[in-house]
Amino acid sequence: MTTPAPRHPVAVAAILAVGSELLRHDRTDTNSLHITARLEELGIGVAWKAIVGDDRTHLTDAVRFACARADLVVLTGGLGPTDDDLTRDAVAAALGRGMTHDEPTIDAIRARFARRHLPMPDINRRQGLVIEGAVLLPNGNGTAPGQWIEDGDRIVLLLPGPPREMRPMLDAVVRGPLAGRVGRERLFRRSVRIAGRSESHAEEVLQPLYASWARGSVPVAATILAAFGLLELQLTVRHADAALADATLGAAAGSVVAAFGDDAFSSDGATMDVVVGRLLADRGLRVAFAESCTGGLVSARVSDVAGCSAYFERSVIAYSNAAKRELLGVPGEVIDLHGAVSEPVALAMASGIRERSAVDIGVGITGIAGPSGATDDKPLGTVVIAVSGPGAHQRVRTMLFPGDRQQVRTLATQSALDHLRRALLATS
Ligand code: AMP
Ligand code: MG
Repeated sequence: MTTPAPRHPVAVAAILAVGSELLRHDRTDTNSLHITARLEELGIGVAWKAIVGDDRTHLTDAVRFACARADLVVLTGGLGPTDDDLTRDAVAAALGRGMTHDEPTIDAIRARFARRHLPMPDINRRQGLVIEGAVLLPNGNGTAPGQWIEDGDRIVLLLPGPPREMRPMLDAVVRGPLAGRVGRERLFRRSVRIAGRSESHAEEVLQPLYASWARGSVPVAATILAAFGLLELQLTVRHADAALADATLGAAAGSVVAAFGDDAFSSDGATMDVVVGRLLADRGLRVAFAESCTGGLVSARVSDVAGCSAYFERSVIAYSNAAKRELLGVPGEVIDLHGAVSEPVALAMASGIRERSAVDIGVGITGIAGPSGATDDKPLGTVVIAVSGPGAHQRVRTMLFPGDRQQVRTLATQSALDHLRRALLATS
């Protein structure tokens, strides 16, 4: 028996990705990310998700847990024909419902096999098991149908695991029955990216802003993420009026930019390489890089951006001392006197690449990425970044980055781009 249609709109979802293989180190649950993106388009936020192995008890518990917290519970996977495909059984148990074999579904599966001149194995009858009260969702790309279940105010949705089966079924649900069940509110997001601040320092600046956003007539929710040497503040508004949501997010982003000054480098989703590219293009300046410890990572980031030929001239990877002398003209005495990782050498690399490639700005990066090469006065993670030009401008900074070789190189790359950005802002 179908329960009466719920009145309150679907706003909060939980996702369960089902399958023991997804718990191994070499498999990724991509379905839940795809599902999250599609639900957000409807204004449905995902509050909770989990990956659950093919275990009846764990799965039944997880369904109960999810049902207690969400208007919509989406399960993906575990609809196959074998004994370890337990999603149907677990949902039936969690909701206290029975299951019956749906003969038209089984006939359709049998016909699929017949088209390949095969008899249907008996175990495939399991895929025709329908939870009491469920509406079946056709599967154009496989045998298992999906199931849509009304459970009081809640919807429980069973989708197949293989992405090529799951996606079209989800599309049909998102465009069809689910679209009619959401309120008029949608989710709107904007992110502000910040360089050169630690998360806790940023939090201190942001606390009063959080408080004022929460009190506003259109509340703004914020989350802060720290990764790869920068902070990303994500601002979210839930509202029915897109223009008002956009204006509110614009004002909130503006107050963050005002509070952080030049440290806030992007409020429109642009990454550091894009921001640097825009600054160079706006000023009509061309750049070249001399990279040592980053081994070309900075140049790779800069050349990731389409249209970079307008401002990116060339790069040299000068790893050895000989390369620094021969390709960049760094004087041997400067290297001998100060060491390859030093401010005079970074500056000589920057001015060397600038002069030899006849550009407006040269950037030099030299450092100790580890695990060996550290000295008492130059510990592992010491990186020197120099910017030469435009004109007589030059700047150099010695940084100390934490982490292993990979992390030091990533942070050095991000920092080199940020130094270039700050140099460009200072010469507007
Ligand atoms: P299942 O229907 O659970 O037997 O899943 C069949 C296959 O679909 C798995 O072996 C995976 O290759 C794929 N699959 C299942 N769940 C997911 C998921 N959450 N994300 C990506 N692929 C999945
Ligand atoms: Mg499975």
